[in-house]
Amino acid sequence: MPKGIYLRTEEHKRKIRNSALRGERNPLWQGGEFKDKRGNIFVLNPDHPFCDNKGYIRKHRLIMEQKLSRYLNPKEDIHHLDYNKENNHPSNLYLFPNRKEHTKYHHFLKNLVLESIGYKYKCKGREKDYQKEQNKKWRQKNPNYWREYNERKKK
Ligand SMILES: [Zn+2]
Repeated sequence: MPKGIYLRTEEHKRKIRNSALRGERNPLWQGGEFKDKRGNIFVLNPDHPFCDNKGYIRKHRLIMEQKLSRYLNPKEDIHHLDYNKENNHPSNLYLFPNRKEHTKYHHFLKNLVLESIGYKYKCKGREKDYQKEQNKKWRQKNPNYWREYNERKKK
């Protein structure tokens, strides 16, 4: 058999089962919390009506529920105001009635940032028109800029 490949015997399977890094045996175990690849923190809470099939619930939902003193509707969605999913302080959480409204808000923020650096919408034609317009406005505001710039260059 090639190196590194071996059959799992019953004995081996039993060993894996017994020493499996589950729950408290896992060095990453922190009182029933774990973090997924996207940074969401999950808490073990098998009694929660909306926990997943393994008994976990997203920590930010739990904290929002404590803040509101009610269970969240599964449709309701949480936004992290500082974009850090690990910061689940109640003041960092904002409740949206559904995923759609949450996504809409992200698009709104994105457009705001793009506009602030001179972009407007994804449409190429409109983008060009927008830049032309901005250049025109800028020239009107600074009518002597290029003349002064060239004079400065000569010196
Ligand atoms: Zn968000």
